[in-house]
Amino acid sequence: MTGRPRLTVIGTGYLGATHAVCMAELGFEVLGLDVDAAKIAALASGRVPFYEPGLPELLQKNLDSGRLRFTTSMAEVGAFGDVHFLCVGTPQKIGEYAADLTYLDAAFDALLPELREGALVVGKSTVPAGTAERLADDLAQRGTARGVELAWNPEFLREGFAVEDTLRPDRLVFGVRAGAAEALLRAAYAPVIAAPTPVVVCDFATAQLVKVAANAFLATKISFINAMAEVCEATHGDVKKLSEALSYDSRIGGRFLHAGLGFGGGCLPKDIRAFMARAGELGVDQALSFLKEVDAINQRRRTRMVELARESLGGSFTGANVTILGAAFKPNSDDIRDSPALEVAAAIMAQGGDVALYDPVAMDNARRVHPEICYRDSAVDAARGADIVLHLTEWSEFRTMNPSALTPVVAHKRIVDGRNALDPQLWRDHGWTYRALGRPH
Ligand code: NAD
Repeated sequence: MTGRPRLTVIGTGYLGATHAVCMAELGFEVLGLDVDAAKIAALASGRVPFYEPGLPELLQKNLDSGRLRFTTSMAEVGAFGDVHFLCVGTPQKIGEYAADLTYLDAAFDALLPELREGALVVGKSTVPAGTAERLADDLAQRGTARGVELAWNPEFLREGFAVEDTLRPDRLVFGVRAGAAEALLRAAYAPVIAAPTPVVVCDFATAQLVKVAANAFLATKISFINAMAEVCEATHGDVKKLSEALSYDSRIGGRFLHAGLGFGGGCLPKDIRAFMARAGELGVDQALSFLKEVDAINQRRRTRMVELARESLGGSFTGANVTILGAAFKPNSDDIRDSPALEVAAAIMAQGGDVALYDPVAMDNARRVHPEICYRDSAVDAARGADIVLHLTEWSEFRTMNPSALTPVVAHKRIVDGRNALDPQLWRDHGWTYRALGRPH
């Protein structure tokens, strides 16, 4: 290979589509592949099949430039690429904590016979330690084209900031066994490295662990402050003030220290569970037993939110109109995987409440999974006749909403702020009863 390596991206979901578009934006020729033909048709026609700010514009620009193409043919991918990024899903196995690697194995198996001499296969999916070693051994044993190598390059992008995080990541992690793999990976990231971006070169095990360790740390920080919220409720303390005071301590910092309904999504919950499962297999389950509590605290926030709403209604949801603001697991995303908001909505319906929900972008996804919920086109529409309003995803549209927009349409002026993101005084000044997790009322 001379000049810039040609890149392929296998699996064009949230991670892969963003990676393909951004690598084309950085000047590489990129070919994206997915087994979902509808997704490939959408991307090829310039439509991003999920919500990610800034991505549609870059997709169109790079399709127009001719640098970015999409296909469903693995033979085309093998013939085209010098570096192949594996970005397929690694969800939680049904009924188990462990990661389901069947999609990764299927993609790898399909790619192997198509690889050209000297190609590099780069795993980006989040996987349990040991996966890269297994795939590298497989690659060596199966007699593919000469000089084919594997590397592991975990991804840290945040949905909602995925373009920025891909173009300007905090760091790159290269898990490699051979110098040739590192050199090719450096060529594939040359513009990012030149930014400059720190590169950590390490063995496979460490590279795989960096990703799950990062998510375990972030989940722990969130659950720590949510545990403090539980204590605040018992002591009539105010967790918002508590976290503010903690945040001025430079050893602690304020990020990921916001008490509320906790984390969800397609990464943190399943990653900490897969991490625990793998630690168990390795005989070091004690080292990660704290993550069980981190997970339990997080799940308790959802239950507590339902209880707080029920308490605020006087003890029962039966016949109550409940407005839910938010369906996505976090703002600036339409991702509803393990969404706390939707779990709360479902629990309230199961207890006899009538739920009307509004989310700025995630309602189509939510409707597919929860057709039983009533969806409305705006916050005001959702709040008509409400006995209580629950703020469950902190979209800026909700954070900046003036209570006077909802006051004329609700039946009762009650709001529970599941994200501790609204101004309690403002709502109280408008005559609302404001409740929040971990705060006095
Ligand atoms: P996703 O479900 O949005 O996308 C996965 C894609 O892989 C889908 O489009 C699916 O059709 C495709 N796929 C499945 N089997 C395939 C096969 N055999 N060949 C080709 N394509 C196949 O998932 P995602 O959120 O993009 O996550 C992908 C991986 O990246 C996961 O391991 C996840 O943990 C990790 N990750 C995700 C994020 C994030 O913010 N979403 C961030 C960092 C890491």
